[in-house]
Amino acid sequence: MCAIRRAPEYWTTLGSSKTRTSEQAIEGQRLIKQQLEELPPNTTVAFTDGSCMGNPGPCGAGAIIYNNEEEETIQYPVSNRGSILLAELVAIKLVLEKIDNYNYRNVKQLNLYSDSQSAIGIITLNWKSENYHKTIQEIKNRKKIGTKRHVEDNKCTCGEIESVEHFLLSCDNYSLDREKLRQSIYFKTGTLNLDLEELLNTEASADIQYAVSEFIDDTQRFDHLFV
Ligand SMILES: [Zn+2]
Repeated sequence: MCAIRRAPEYWTTLGSSKTRTSEQAIEGQRLIKQQLEELPPNTTVAFTDGSCMGNPGPCGAGAIIYNNEEEETIQYPVSNRGSILLAELVAIKLVLEKIDNYNYRNVKQLNLYSDSQSAIGIITLNWKSENYHKTIQEIKNRKKIGTKRHVEDNKCTCGEIESVEHFLLSCDNYSLDREKLRQSIYFKTGTLNLDLEELLNTEASADIQYAVSEFIDDTQRFDHLFV
């Protein structure tokens, strides 16, 4: 698991979960398959996803694990009144719990794919989260997630406390990159206002997600993390 470094080209061509055509879905499957074939042999792969009807609202976590020739799916009702972030985090936690279970003793390396930049930031960069401390701690305790640097504290290099909101909306280190993000969002939505929830909504349009990933790429904030 690592924060994405470069927005893949296909983010602009595959639509979003709500608008995707069957041709786009097939193309998406082909691209993922191609990427998986490039992984070292015996890599265990998991995809996680959270979904939420309303935010907050009833939410659930899902995942699929591919281990050698076998696959296992996880579906789990998380809460009657939770958030998309909680669902995304629980999905990750469930995969790590499974991997610790004896059926998976042969796992040498797990590549876990989440589409939630907030979840990835919280787990790999110690971004501060207002909620869900227990779930986050449980994930970290599994120690399955490696980063090249050891994160000693949750301070940004500018001296402020690091958080998703700080990084995306206020850190002075990235003012220029943020202006570019603001312009991209303006062209796509007609609003100059950067809305945190909208930027992090994994069910938002692919255009918005692409703009956010470009911002992350421009800032090079994640370049010191492993890929
Ligand atoms: Zn900062």
